[in-house]
Amino acid sequence: MARMKVKDLPYRRVTIEEIKEALDSAILKMKSASSAQDLIDAREIIVKKTKTFSTMASLSNARFTLNTKDEFYMGEKDYYDEITPIFEVKMLECTKTFLASPFLSEVKKLINPVIIQNYELQSKATSEKIVAELQEDNALITKYVKFVSELTYEFRGEKLTLNGLRKFMQDNDRETRAEAYNALGKTLDKNSEFIDDIFNKMVKNRDLMGKKMGYKNYIELGYARMNRMCYDQETVKAFRENVLSDIVPVVSKLKGELAKKLGFDEFKLYDNDTYFTSDPKPILDAEGILAAGKKMYNDMSKETSDFIDMMMEADAFDVFSREGKWTGGYMTSFDDYNQPFIFANFNGTTADVDVITHEAGHAFASFLSSPLVPFELNLGPMETAETHSMSMEFFAWKYMKNFFGADEKKYRYKHLFDSLSFIPYGTIVDYFQHFIYENPSMTPAERNACWKKLEQEFRPYMNADGIEYLEKGTRWQYQNHIFELPFYYIDYCLAQSVAIQFLAYSLKDYDKALKAYIDHCRRGGSYVFTDLVKLCGLKSPFEKGALSEVAEISSKLL
Ligand code: ZN
Repeated sequence: MARMKVKDLPYRRVTIEEIKEALDSAILKMKSASSAQDLIDAREIIVKKTKTFSTMASLSNARFTLNTKDEFYMGEKDYYDEITPIFEVKMLECTKTFLASPFLSEVKKLINPVIIQNYELQSKATSEKIVAELQEDNALITKYVKFVSELTYEFRGEKLTLNGLRKFMQDNDRETRAEAYNALGKTLDKNSEFIDDIFNKMVKNRDLMGKKMGYKNYIELGYARMNRMCYDQETVKAFRENVLSDIVPVVSKLKGELAKKLGFDEFKLYDNDTYFTSDPKPILDAEGILAAGKKMYNDMSKETSDFIDMMMEADAFDVFSREGKWTGGYMTSFDDYNQPFIFANFNGTTADVDVITHEAGHAFASFLSSPLVPFELNLGPMETAETHSMSMEFFAWKYMKNFFGADEKKYRYKHLFDSLSFIPYGTIVDYFQHFIYENPSMTPAERNACWKKLEQEFRPYMNADGIEYLEKGTRWQYQNHIFELPFYYIDYCLAQSVAIQFLAYSLKDYDKALKAYIDHCRRGGSYVFTDLVKLCGLKSPFEKGALSEVAEISSKLL
């Protein structure tokens, strides 16, 4: 049977009334359960409704981004945004009823225990008590996003958006980069009052949420909201120490050598994305990149080949720019149809190749795990999901000649160097937030000083001296995760540590490594992260020595 095209997938609105009806019936069933099976059946009702809700909500969102002038889907999207908090409160009631059932211990033996762990975490992550603060958090985030997306940066007589400025921040010419960073600093400085004020409100409100939930501060709540099942603050601390002892010295040494090669007397913040005097460029145009991606997955393995054929048959790559199309990029899935979908705006640059490797890695994992793994655990928490995508980037290495021609080596060098040196940066972002939420009454100046100190510790090879405003330690002010998604960042560091291990494995034995990776994708989130990593035959990044191997391999390759 031919696969249905994404544009033809049937859509219908899932109303809050029908959700309430289904979940209420599940709650009733759980409360009057006379066996463990009753509890399991009730869960099935919840899963079925949640899955349809998620399918239709992401379908309406996708159709809106495909044509931002489409009023019907814009309305549908607004409807889901509006009912989501009500749905979440109802879900919490389900979770609590489930966990309170006298049949729980029996059910634990019958279904994947991670499902129950997940429920336990959900009940730690939210409560009716903090609904008002959660709404306030959303409102502050929306206000922040609107503010920063409207900010313009004056550069060489033009007013640019941050994205527009980024091109110059990564320019091959050093003077241009310095000028662009100064333009960035100048605008942030001019708006620092607003940014500091809104962040202050966010921190205070999150702190209140944590305290209302009975925690010392926001941190534990933040961890629960990020769905962390197998690591806590202590384990993250151990990871951080591994980064400091094993990754930082290696990155510093490599960056020092690079600075010499590029002729810099010292490494500045604006040199951090620079690896060459001219960057590797794809030899293909947008259409060529998509076609080369198809060829790559067809060649890689039977599983990736089936995946890419399915994606093409369903027209599930909407990657060419058009009038009226939203400008970002993402991967999503329509779970009722087991259909992943990739949205992008190709422009013939390296970023397009990243979509073909990274986003397709997410989509591949979703396609494999969705029929096998309980819906709640499909892709797993963020650190697990990012392992799927970041590892695929490395399995694609062998095909980079098709995309970059003679520049293939340069691409690999930059990709690995970037990946390795990202780990200390990501760790700073995470560590900084621990200080912030432990000391919610810090002043803006104290926050900046804290950031600056962490930079010196984790990125000692570079400084921001002499760059307008940024020299005060304000690099964090344009790291949007800190505002929008607290504690979402260590996930990337953990995933990167595993992905580099997959790279080393693949260079030793590509087929065996790829098989381990495919099995890993198939498992989705049906095990917790540390168990998943072990099942691949790799080392948990929390383990002592795991990162020294990562550093050693990378340094040898670079
Ligand atoms: Zn990703």
